[in-house]
Amino acid sequence: MKLTPEPSRRDGVHWTVHMNRRNRSVFYALLFLTLGSHLLAIGATAPAWAALVLNYVAYPQIAYLRARRARDQKRAEMHNMDADIVMAGIWMGWLGFPLWISFILCASGCINMVVFYGARGGVRLLLALAAGIAAAALLAPLSWRPDTDLRTAALSMLALTLYLFAFARDGYDRAMAQHQVHARLREQYDEIRSLQAQLREQALRDPLTGLFNRRQLAAALPSALERCRERGAPLSVLLIDIDHFKRINDTHGHAAGDMVLQALARLLLCHVRPQDLACRLGGEEFLLVLDNTPLDAAVERAQALRQAFEALRVHSAAGELGATLSCGVAAFPLHAGQPEALLAHADQALYEAKERGRNSVVAHAAREMAQAFAP
Ligand code: GH3
Ligand code: MG
Ligand code: MG
Repeated sequence: MKLTPEPSRRDGVHWTVHMNRRNRSVFYALLFLTLGSHLLAIGATAPAWAALVLNYVAYPQIAYLRARRARDQKRAEMHNMDADIVMAGIWMGWLGFPLWISFILCASGCINMVVFYGARGGVRLLLALAAGIAAAALLAPLSWRPDTDLRTAALSMLALTLYLFAFARDGYDRAMAQHQVHARLREQYDEIRSLQAQLREQALRDPLTGLFNRRQLAAALPSALERCRERGAPLSVLLIDIDHFKRINDTHGHAAGDMVLQALARLLLCHVRPQDLACRLGGEEFLLVLDNTPLDAAVERAQALRQAFEALRVHSAAGELGATLSCGVAAFPLHAGQPEALLAHADQALYEAKERGRNSVVAHAAREMAQAFAP
């Protein structure tokens, strides 16, 4: 009984139909010999021999053609299996339940039924056998003639052994095929997982600089603020904008401009700690979220950054070039408690830094507290 699940159809024929045709033909040939041996031993009449030929030689082909032509091939094949058992019941009842023959008919039928129907296949087997035996009782009164001769017993053993061998071999083939399918699925699953992780990462990153993007900022800033609120710790944001960046593009070309953006991104990464967040918001605008950092320390770090960037030289195809940046700083909880308000304050401070002539760092509330840091 071959259990290979794929391909489910070959030449338009359902795999169960294909498999059962082969197995039924071979096993029924063996049953033909076994029952034939018993009929010889009991001196059966011509009608019994005709029934034997009909059931064990012609029927497997009839069953195959019937199932093949059916609209629902699998269902038709299941009916064939029921018919197999009913006919086995008829033979058993009619022959007086010869032990060896009854045993191999029941055992092979049980394996088939349980494989296709699960445990309830056992109940189906009993019902079909009972129907067959009842039909035999209608043909002739039931009798009890359990003995078989040695030749029939040996043929029964051979038939069942070969049947079990074929069954086990098909089971082995199927297990190997399933193992391969499982390994392939595992590989594909791992590949999909890693692609998903890549996509998730890419969705949060700016492709030019590799820094986090605005989407990641929107997700991370509220939770960073919440953590600081719980710990009673400060947090600062540095909003950074390259000065006269348009001029760089216009003078040295867009590619040189990109190199300046990448150089600033590298510099930002050097200046952040693992718990900080470095983002490119778009264009030549960047944002640093400094965890557990009060305003004065944030301004100090912004100044260090501003100086480092001013000193930086970018070697582009258009030649060596440099740029400066302006930075607005705002702090939690000093200036605001919510992400949007904090960013708005940093934006105001940046605007003021530009107003003051660029290349400068301004902390928010500079207007009130006169906290400006010019070069
Ligand atoms: P300011 O000092 O006031 O900030 O002036 P600015 O020239 O830096 O500011 P502006 O907003 O006028 O110009 C920003 C420029 O940045 C304009 C735009 O073409 C350029 N830009 C935006 N994204 C990119 C990018 O990905 N690569 C390059 N090379 N340029 C970009
Ligand atoms: Mg600018
Ligand atoms: Mg700008």
